[in-house]
Amino acid sequence: MAKVIDSKIPAGPVPEKWKEYKAHQRLVNPKNKLKLDVIVVGTGLAGASAAASLGEMGFNVINLCIQDSPRRAHSIAAQGGINAAKCYQNDGDSIYRLFYDTVKGGDYRAREANVYRLAEVSNNIIDQCVAQGVPFAREYGGMLANRSFGGAQVSRTFYAKGQTGQQLLLGAYSSLSCQVQAGKVKLYTRYEMEDVVIVDGRARGIIAKDLCTGKLVRFSANAVVIATGGYGNTYFLSTNAMGCNCTAAVQCYRKGAYFANPSYVQIHPTCIPVHGDKQSKLTLMSESLRNDGRIWVPKKIEDAKALQAGTKQGWEIPEEDRDYYLERRYPAFGNLVPRDVASRAAKERCDKGFGVNNTGLAVFLDFSESINRLGIDIIMQRYGNLFEMYEEITDVFPGDVANEINGVKYYKPMMIYPAIHYTMGGIWVDYELQTSIPGLFAIGECNFSDHGANRLGASALMQGLADGYFVLPYTIQNYLADQAVWPKVSTDLPEFAEAEKKVDAELDRLLNIKGKRSVDSIHKELGHIMWEYVGMGRTAEGLKTGLKKMHELEKEFDSNLFVPGTKEGLNIELDKAIHLRDFFTMGQLVAFDALSRNESCGGHFREEYQTEEGEAKRDDENYFYVGCWEYKGKGNEPELIKEPLEYEAIKVQTRNYKN
Ligand SMILES: Cc1cc2nc3c(=O)[nH]c(=O)nc-3n(C[C@H](O)[C@H](O)[C@H](O)COP(=O)(O)OP(=O)(O)OC[C@H]3O[C@@H](n4cnc5c(N)ncnc54)[C@H](O)[C@@H]3O)c2cc1C
Repeated sequence: MAKVIDSKIPAGPVPEKWKEYKAHQRLVNPKNKLKLDVIVVGTGLAGASAAASLGEMGFNVINLCIQDSPRRAHSIAAQGGINAAKCYQNDGDSIYRLFYDTVKGGDYRAREANVYRLAEVSNNIIDQCVAQGVPFAREYGGMLANRSFGGAQVSRTFYAKGQTGQQLLLGAYSSLSCQVQAGKVKLYTRYEMEDVVIVDGRARGIIAKDLCTGKLVRFSANAVVIATGGYGNTYFLSTNAMGCNCTAAVQCYRKGAYFANPSYVQIHPTCIPVHGDKQSKLTLMSESLRNDGRIWVPKKIEDAKALQAGTKQGWEIPEEDRDYYLERRYPAFGNLVPRDVASRAAKERCDKGFGVNNTGLAVFLDFSESINRLGIDIIMQRYGNLFEMYEEITDVFPGDVANEINGVKYYKPMMIYPAIHYTMGGIWVDYELQTSIPGLFAIGECNFSDHGANRLGASALMQGLADGYFVLPYTIQNYLADQAVWPKVSTDLPEFAEAEKKVDAELDRLLNIKGKRSVDSIHKELGHIMWEYVGMGRTAEGLKTGLKKMHELEKEFDSNLFVPGTKEGLNIELDKAIHLRDFFTMGQLVAFDALSRNESCGGHFREEYQTEEGEAKRDDENYFYVGCWEYKGKGNEPELIKEPLEYEAIKVQTRNYKN
């Protein structure tokens, strides 16, 4: 049974224990009960929106990020859009329908109540962002434009060309800057949270590293919020920004915060395929492209072989010899099936030998039909920057005519393949977004809350901004209300000193290994293990092998790592080593969770559990729960704690995107 976590701290006089700390205390000014301090770690869409909102509400906010500006957070990478149930298209959308699509898209593994709240506030987000001046695309008549994303049969995705994340972040950043100017938010750029400090069972502060000087700094507050993004880079190659890491989340996990559903990792179907061994990053081609692009491979195996050998090009294959396999298998949703379904279908075709590039691990995304129908100008208005990005990386421009067969123009198709993209799992939070450590909150991609086993496209930005603008600023007050009579602790407390000492000792340990291997070489090897054994198709045997290999590689990391330089000043290799240490913990956690979940659902596909047609086969009788993991020390198996799911509004059934 799940442990029940009570996030309500009873109000009352300062307990005896606190009086002992009196010498260090800065008591709350009784004239200003709102003088409460909150640390917000992260300035992505979740962190920036939360910090700005909390500042505006009168809290004193300490806001940190690892980049040199909040505007460079990973959130700027978001291309395609953000969902909301405005129903501007008059196509039958509603809050209920967004709620339903999200729960179904997540393969019935999300917490129903959270998703309903998310759908309810989705419209407010758009209003908030428009008020900030976010330049969403508009129709000719001035209404905000919408496009469709996977897993929905309505158009509810608001967008700003292929740069939605960047524009939304600029909006959040302007609100944040207002609060910085007003003195309510103190911004620390190029600071990395290394540990959370727990005093008497509550999160009371953090230890951060000034990434430029190497100095460790203590911050104390009445509550700590982490908004530090996902753990996709555990796989080394992913669409995430290179700086994305899970250090803050893993440290919270080590300190007692449960980690929920780590095996729910999203593999995005439309990424530029891996092209060699020297690559350190993969590039996403936004899901929005599936509105107008059609995915196909050749029908005939000899055509596929010719494509792989380079003796034939995609545009030489006529219409009747193309297999639009998503349209064939899922007629109701076609190219707009959810990501997990589209990714597995691409893998299935490539595994059968129908891949279209030299590695055999690619399928086509073709705009010929839509360019012929709408004209290149309209297509460029919608996806211009994505076409240009694709050309910069591959030297192929998808808007170039390549061939004409029977009077039909064929354009150069993109080549795409699934890649690690997003992590649905994350730090466990209750309905108030509080973790299992009182006073510690988690928002945005770093929590597990809303997407179940698979996130629908354009729902991450919705969730991050819902958390930051409309949920956390209210729910955190249920905790802080009682804190008004509690003192903010001093950073001279022994708990801070001890946490700082441990972080410092870790830096020394990593620097003093003085082995022979670079951080990246070990990280790349970890990524191979993750992709091979904990990737798109998992088996019990493979997961056990993966875990064994990870243990061995972690030993190699601990004994043969080489980190140049010192801990004073800027040392990027040292920072990467810290991240890699935590990717090891994370990778094992993903594998443990995947091994314990003997079913397939959403992004977690256990090959032993599939239907005859190769679809994911859930086991609701035994696995209808959130899998929360409690840390039990390095090298030990964590403990599984279950939070049973309760559905009141939606009937749990097998997902169907066919009709
Ligand atoms: C290529 C790409 C395209 C995408 N497109 C879309 C889309 O169109 N629509 C959509 O809904 N979603 C999209 N997503 C997903 C979405 O962008 C992310 O899920 C979302 O932006 C995450 O926001 P966040 O605020 O939770 O975290 P992030 O944006 O990752 O921000 C994390 C913040 O935490 C800080 N940080 C991290 N660790 C520490 C630490 N230890 N100490 C201090 N600070 C720290 C970082 O500096 C940063 O400020 C896309 C993702 C990718 C990779």
